[in-house]
Amino acid sequence: MSNIRFTALNEALSHSTAVNNCIPGKLSELFGINVFSDKVMREYLPDDIFKTIVENIDSSKLIDKKIADQVASAMRAWAINKGATHYAHWFLPLNGATAEKHDSFFSPVTNNMYIEQFDGSSLVQQEPDASSFPSGGLRNTFEARGYSAWDPSSPAFIMDNTLCIPTIFIAYTGEALDFKTPLLKTLSLIDDIATDICQLFDRSITKVFPTLGWEQEYFLVDEALYNVRPDLIMTGRTLLGQTPAKGQQLEDHYFGAIPPRVTAFMKDFEYEAWKLGIPVKTRHNEVAPNQFELAPVYEEANIAIDHNQLVMVVMNKIARNHKFRILYHEKPFAGVNGSGKHNNWSLATNTGKNLLSPGHTPKTNLLFLTFFINIIKSIHEHGDLLRACIASAGNDHRLGANEAPPAIMSVFIGTKLTKVLDEIEKMVKDRKMTPDEKTDLKLNIGKIPQIIIDNTDRNRTSPMAFTGNKFEFRAVGSSANCAPAMIVLNTILADQLKKFKKSLDKSMKQGVDKDEAIFKILRTYIKDSRPILFEGNSYSDEWIIEAEKRSLSNFKNTPDALYAYVSEKTKKLFNQNNIFTSKELEARWEIRHENYAKVIQIESRVLADLAGNHIIPTAIRYQNILIDNVKGLKEIFPEDQYKKQAELQLYIIDKISEHIFHIRKDVKEMIEKRKKANKLLEAHKRSDYYGKQVKPYLDKIRYHVDKLELLIDDEMWTMPKYREMLFVK
Ligand code: ADP
Ligand code: MG
Repeated sequence: MSNIRFTALNEALSHSTAVNNCIPGKLSELFGINVFSDKVMREYLPDDIFKTIVENIDSSKLIDKKIADQVASAMRAWAINKGATHYAHWFLPLNGATAEKHDSFFSPVTNNMYIEQFDGSSLVQQEPDASSFPSGGLRNTFEARGYSAWDPSSPAFIMDNTLCIPTIFIAYTGEALDFKTPLLKTLSLIDDIATDICQLFDRSITKVFPTLGWEQEYFLVDEALYNVRPDLIMTGRTLLGQTPAKGQQLEDHYFGAIPPRVTAFMKDFEYEAWKLGIPVKTRHNEVAPNQFELAPVYEEANIAIDHNQLVMVVMNKIARNHKFRILYHEKPFAGVNGSGKHNNWSLATNTGKNLLSPGHTPKTNLLFLTFFINIIKSIHEHGDLLRACIASAGNDHRLGANEAPPAIMSVFIGTKLTKVLDEIEKMVKDRKMTPDEKTDLKLNIGKIPQIIIDNTDRNRTSPMAFTGNKFEFRAVGSSANCAPAMIVLNTILADQLKKFKKSLDKSMKQGVDKDEAIFKILRTYIKDSRPILFEGNSYSDEWIIEAEKRSLSNFKNTPDALYAYVSEKTKKLFNQNNIFTSKELEARWEIRHENYAKVIQIESRVLADLAGNHIIPTAIRYQNILIDNVKGLKEIFPEDQYKKQAELQLYIIDKISEHIFHIRKDVKEMIEKRKKANKLLEAHKRSDYYGKQVKPYLDKIRYHVDKLELLIDDEMWTMPKYREMLFVK
């Protein structure tokens, strides 16, 4: 049998033994050994330089040339000591991947003499040509060079003998071409205004920074099977395949014992991650077969995002050693759950406090409530933007497609906090409050239990859930960079806090006492934000109707959702807070539309190829066998018996013809639609056309292909089936 599927299945079986390559060691000794950490800097730098650099990083100050030279020289010495031969500026371009251009330390000084060199200017700035990254029209001319510039707040690390230096990536004209530049801006934006507000409560708070703990879901597929699924190779998801008889109905995979071959991969990968200073902590099976999750301890948001991007790269590499391929796609398999990336987000202070952790006194709880309610208000104001920032072709398969979470943005806070908000709304008066009323109110908020983590209700259906001391944004796609979500959350909160501070200052000037003024403002926010608060089942049909009544948007596809990226409201928000210019926003909007159109275009091409080269020829071959069989039956049976003998065969022959007819017709129509789409010059019109006119054909064609999979002799089918790919041995 020359069937490529059977060859691949045999090969996959031979992979099934678990091989674990990592050398066991004490974790604490291993952790961060490939990172140019504070500890290393202290060792390699003179004391005064070390102090200056740490202070500069803390206060986000620029680092001058003299210090950069010293740091570069320390980095070089350390890296070469550890066997590094190259260095690279490592950045996060808008294609969503990571980018690195390697240069050797090796430099000629005279004709015959070479030394290892790396100075401050190589550390601080580089000009990787990198002109092929998406720029949304920001780099149309050849002069529009791209620069990478050192981000000292994220430590350098060594990967594969290369010293990688996290950098931002900007155009010659100053526009950001990456995810990190705007993110860093939002971090200092939050720091400024949040610290101002904390100062009203606690003078020792001088710095506030967002924290992020991501949870990464992914699927594993055997390499041999992956290699004979062109759809997985080209699009990251299966464009065809009949759902297996057993999927996730029995829920026997979730948190179940991890298969030994997978554990071996996880151990090896964790070992590499620890060496890179990535604090991975949790691993478990997810809901769907072959689906897993990984989560680290949370970190400062910038570092957490770098680590997430790095983890995805490292996992890909290690998976190959174990003959696996990782699928980060949001919906690699129809009929079983897709993958997301939960973003747990909170705010921490220099004093070690989590601002979203209720305290044990009325004062600390007022601080908590101030941030908590401002966040809710900001999401109410900018829900559409939050939806837009996570929109992608892959994520459309989850959001709004009867799968977690819905496309309607809402916030879940649990019964306890709902009661607290209700009470504030009831107890705070429009008039000046009496001392007794104020005391009652304070006593009441003092009763918020300090640890509500364990008893916050676990509403798994909400896209944005408060989970005791953090908000968990669950709608981010598994393949996405976390930065856009963080940029939006940080910016809308900072903007909201500024408005809060302005109202507060005004009231206090009018002689209202501080606490009372805060309560009054918070009460109006609670009233205003009611529509965004939802405690029920967000997957239900009732919620769709209810959300509409509340005027909450429900954008089911990316081209529609993206409008909020460039609305006047969004432009004003980002312009006023100096995060994005309108030009930068429009560029990002265009890149997303471009990307969407390209993804659907590629999927459509691949499916048409598969239908033409794999499915239809196989169907015809099998049909011919049946035809021969029918002819034979006709020869050996008398006319009255033959009909009965050949009944099933005739039925299948007919069905095959019917499905082939539809596949051919739909493929032809789809190609015509694609041609029309490609003629549209504006990216948003093209993506809209692709989404509404081309994409539906993917499902139509698939329907007939999957029906054929059920009809055709298993031995003839060339593509690995779901049941073969989904259950790792
Ligand atoms: P799950 O959602 O799987 O039930 P949890 O809700 O316990 O898991 O979430 C755990 C995640 O939350 C971890 O990734 C952890 O790092 C993150 N996390 C915990 N505290 C914070 C915080 N203060 N800020 C940001 N992330 C946090
Ligand atoms: Mg979670």
